[in-house]
Amino acid sequence: MLSCKELVAHSSDFLDGQLSLRERLSVRAHLAMCRHCRRFIRQMKVTQGVLRALPDAAIPELDALAERLAQQRRQP
Ligand SMILES: [Zn+2]
Repeated sequence: MLSCKELVAHSSDFLDGQLSLRERLSVRAHLAMCRHCRRFIRQMKVTQGVLRALPDAAIPELDALAERLAQQRRQP
């Protein structure tokens, strides 16, 4: 079972489809159990969707936003 911290570490790869089948299953199993991480992944998806919709110039600020979301998630 992944910890929440591990899930956060894997989250971008998960959303990019870069994880192995086994890793993906671990992430999904964690998400099924943990509503906090479900919310985190949902926020990540929204952030990624915004990233894709915007021109390159806007990306540094959104990176900072994604980082801030990740940091909020790490706090107890
Ligand atoms: Zn979790």
